[in-house]
Amino acid sequence: MPLPRPPLRAKIITAEDFHPAPEGLNVSPAARTLVWHSEVFKAQPSNPNPPPIPEIEGNTDHTIEITPIVSTGRWCAQCPWCPASEYPSSTQPFFMCSQCHNNGSFVWVVVKWPDRRWEIEEILSLRPVPQTRNWLPHETPEYLALENEMMGVKGTFEHMNYRRPDGLDDT
Ligand SMILES: [Zn+2]
Repeated sequence: MPLPRPPLRAKIITAEDFHPAPEGLNVSPAARTLVWHSEVFKAQPSNPNPPPIPEIEGNTDHTIEITPIVSTGRWCAQCPWCPASEYPSSTQPFFMCSQCHNNGSFVWVVVKWPDRRWEIEEILSLRPVPQTRNWLPHETPEYLALENEMMGVKGTFEHMNYRRPDGLDDT
């Protein structure tokens, strides 16, 4: 059972933050990255025709799930097929790579948010330097709390109501 979302001290960026809805267009959050890239694409005289943006409904492979990571304060969904990554959407957890269009299939896949997302975000948000806000799927929130303490962000265990590890100085 995930915890209710606590108020954050610093936001961990998602698609909703980085790609505001283009003015006058009703673009779903998951597709905003594609629209943004299409606009860049159209601006290049040699490439006047951006690829189409496929529908999510009825065009999603639910057997492929991508767990996003946190890199320097931003959630990033890494493409399984190419080196690109995209900002995932909180409200529409579907992924389409703006560079390879999911290996040329134009079929969306699923963004699987970690079960303890809000804890991860809360702990990382306590770090004053955005470049230190990083998370990989094998790292538990308790491990991130320990990292906080190691980098001088004291009181994280108490803030999160976690049991302080034996022998870890709290001063
Ligand atoms: Zn790709």
